[in-house]
Amino acid sequence: MYFAQDPMMSTQKRKWQISDFDIGKNLGRGKFGSVYLAREKQSKFVCALKVLYKKQLQQANVEYQLKREIEIQAHLRYIFFYSIYIQIVLRLYGYFYDDMRVYLILEYAAEGELYKKLQQEHYFSEQTTAKYIKALAGALLYCHKKNVIHRDIKPENLLIGHQGDIKIGDFGWCVHNPGPETRRTTLCGTLDYLPPEMVEGRYHDASVDNWSLGVLTYEFLVGKPPFESSGHRDTYRKISKVDLNFPDHLSPVARDFISKLLQKNPIKRLPLSSIFMHPFIVENTKS
Ligand code: AMP
Repeated sequence: MYFAQDPMMSTQKRKWQISDFDIGKNLGRGKFGSVYLAREKQSKFVCALKVLYKKQLQQANVEYQLKREIEIQAHLRYIFFYSIYIQIVLRLYGYFYDDMRVYLILEYAAEGELYKKLQQEHYFSEQTTAKYIKALAGALLYCHKKNVIHRDIKPENLLIGHQGDIKIGDFGWCVHNPGPETRRTTLCGTLDYLPPEMVEGRYHDASVDNWSLGVLTYEFLVGKPPFESSGHRDTYRKISKVDLNFPDHLSPVARDFISKLLQKNPIKRLPLSSIFMHPFIVENTKS
């Protein structure tokens, strides 16, 4: 089964090379290279080409992580292929490499980074926030069912497609959850999004993503994450105490939603499946 509008799907076994693409403008710079707007010459299919330098990947010792990112993103694509969730995970169509570089052929997110949109608009309305959070909760629910924990949901990792739809763009930090016996305790998320159990170096599981959704909801509605402080120590302390303050303009229903996700005890956090039934989501996503 292929999407008609997606000509690269039918040629996914093909061996790509850089000469197959017309390269357009630079869309942005990442840690290990740049992302370019590109068009596959034969099909005229527009995509984003992420160019990563092998040397930089080797120096930072992230080759394994990249491999995992490719595997997870490609794997999720196949799973999502038959479901609506395909719309939210940024598609990875394929990859290739030459002596110096690794190239990832990605879906082009026409409206760019969510982070920049948030900076421009300062904060989002309850309707926009609920739309994004509902979509993210759907995608995370699916990831969790497949034993994938994202662990790094933050505005910088989210992109916006041409219809204003949200896309999870970065799977670099996510893990296939190895199960309760061997859960990892490494600190690997961005500070502001870390849940108390990670700050305190305790075991963590998939409910770290539920916490991140709470942080993200707050940040979308307020313009900054809830535990932001001038120093790391203060941020850690605030997270650990769940020192949460709401600005006056936040509605009671939004406060309730955020508070139910930002629970110190992971077991008490609002389950992803209940997110869709919370009045904050229901009332704000009525069409
Ligand atoms: P990254 O290396 O993933 O951090 O990407 C660097 C920058 O390129 C990002 O901050 C985005 O602005 C842009 N970018 C990355 N991937 C895409 C994409 N698929 N579509 C549009 N812009 C992108």
